Amino acid sequence: MLNAIQADITTLKVDAIVNAANSSLLGGGGVDGAIHRAAGSELLAECKILGGCPTGEAKLTKGYKLPAKFVIHTVGPVWLGGNHNEAGLLENCYTNSLKLALEHRIKTIAFPSISTGVYGYPINEAAHIAIQTCQKKLNELQSDIEITFCCFSKHDLEVYQSLLNKGIC
Ligand code: ADP
Repeated sequence: MLNAIQADITTLKVDAIVNAANSSLLGGGGVDGAIHRAAGSELLAECKILGGCPTGEAKLTKGYKLPAKFVIHTVGPVWLGGNHNEAGLLENCYTNSLKLALEHRIKTIAFPSISTGVYGYPINEAAHIAIQTCQKKLNELQSDIEITFCCFSKHDLEVYQSLLNKGIC
């Protein structure tokens, strides 16, 4: 099941929230900074032993002080105009995050709008990939995992909702 809400992802009581991290996994701005602040310093300590994460891949940690049990850290592509496999890499973020979620028997997961902040990915295209990739993966795995797209702005929520209502997948 897929749905979209407007919220601060650090407040969500789900099995796992996804972090739009950078490849060092050592924290940053945007949603990454918010997650590290809310989870506390133990999250950074666990991230330090993971040895970074290549773009498109995902790694799991505990959620520490967050209401979420786990954090899945994935690294989105930087938007370079669209001809540098940005779409394929963004798709990998969603696929690899869901793979990890399934391995850890996660039933509820929330994604931020990966790459659409500092990394500059256009929101319409990014939301399309997010929804289509997640729907495809759920169908493929016949999984009943509940996926929430956690939008930070009202505009992002409108984009996600209109795509979900159109049933683009
Ligand atoms: P990226 O580097 O992948 O672009 P950003 O953190 O800059 O990552 O932005 C990704 C998305 O996360 C943007 O839509 C941004 O508005 C959103 N965002 C920032 N803070 C939060 C938060 N606390 N909860 C949910 N989404 C957030």
